[in-house]
Amino acid sequence: MVTAVHRMLPPMEYVRLHDEAAGLDGVIAIHSTARGPAAGGCRLWTYPNADAAMADAFRLAEGMSYKNAMAELPFGGGKAVLRKPAGAFDRRALFEAFGAAVERLEGRYVTAEDVGTSVADMEFVANRTKHVAGRTSRPGFAGGDPSPWTALGVFEAMKAAVRFRFGGTLSGVTVAVQGVGSVGGELCRLLADEGARLVIADIDDTRCARLAEDLGVRVAPIAEIAEVEAEVFAPCALGGALSEASVSALRASLVCGAANNQLADPSVAQMLLDRGIAYAPDYVVNAGGIINVAAEYLGESSDDVRARVLRIGPRTADVLDRASQEGLPPSVVADRMAEHLMRRPVAEPA
Ligand code: NAD
Repeated sequence: MVTAVHRMLPPMEYVRLHDEAAGLDGVIAIHSTARGPAAGGCRLWTYPNADAAMADAFRLAEGMSYKNAMAELPFGGGKAVLRKPAGAFDRRALFEAFGAAVERLEGRYVTAEDVGTSVADMEFVANRTKHVAGRTSRPGFAGGDPSPWTALGVFEAMKAAVRFRFGGTLSGVTVAVQGVGSVGGELCRLLADEGARLVIADIDDTRCARLAEDLGVRVAPIAEIAEVEAEVFAPCALGGALSEASVSALRASLVCGAANNQLADPSVAQMLLDRGIAYAPDYVVNAGGIINVAAEYLGESSDDVRARVLRIGPRTADVLDRASQEGLPPSVVADRMAEHLMRRPVAEPA
């Protein structure tokens, strides 16, 4: 029985960022560069102290290594975490100082937007370095809002997972969607077009009302969305949706959604397996956004992004299939596959 997942953790490199005049205080964490430059967004958040910011950067950088490797991108994993200054601050000064720090790494780390940062911030970063994506989009090229790509990837993963779990299509299948923001909302539209039945919940009533009107979906109370009668549960809000409590109450026998870090605790993976619930691992499923960011940095087209995002479906099926053959939680199998990919440069045959 797998009670905990211990991920391979190569020595983490980090660069402390400090420029008092610009209000810059944070860290760039580089987890792996075997497949290419460490890629991962820049988070601006309030942390109680420098250690808390550093711990978050390490955890997030590690997660990016797994996600990038699994998406077969020529990138390693990294993350920048900046402490949000108390009170008013000059965003241009802060993000230009951050850009200068990224530039000093000479392309070993590539940044983009993340929680608390925006396209405008990345344009400030770009004044000091070319190692940045998530900028203003250009027609025909990759870039712009990553959410529709993330939604498409989740949709492809769900189609493949439904075929694996129930042996059919999404038509007539009930999907309970927790969180109908940028990704969840778009996912609902794709699912409705495919003939799926939808039950949604969101703390934002306006979002629920809009979707209910547009798609005729049923709205459930937020506390009950994991318990509604449905074949599929799609967590698309915050992390930690799959806890001991929510998994015990879950009626769905497949989980496939966009949220990052869905397992509140690694031991929940075994609990899902024991209950016969197939879990499509979050970072395998939600890689559409980073695929778009990576393509923007590489100067690729939106057709290239689409081709890569469509591969998320077969990859999800592969993970579920291997996990079922070995009797292991799919998250454990996905980690193993990602670690295998992480150990070798992209050009080297596996
Ligand atoms: P978003 O902020 O646009 O949407 C999140 C939605 O969840 C909001 O409508 C919010 O009101 C709702 N919500 C918050 N708490 C809730 C709760 N307890 N119950 C129900 N609804 C709740 O964010 P997003 O960009 O759609 O991202 C959704 C998730 O997907 C996040 O976990 C994010 O990290 C992950 N993700 C997003 C992308 C992307 O491209 N945007 C890529 C990879 C992963």
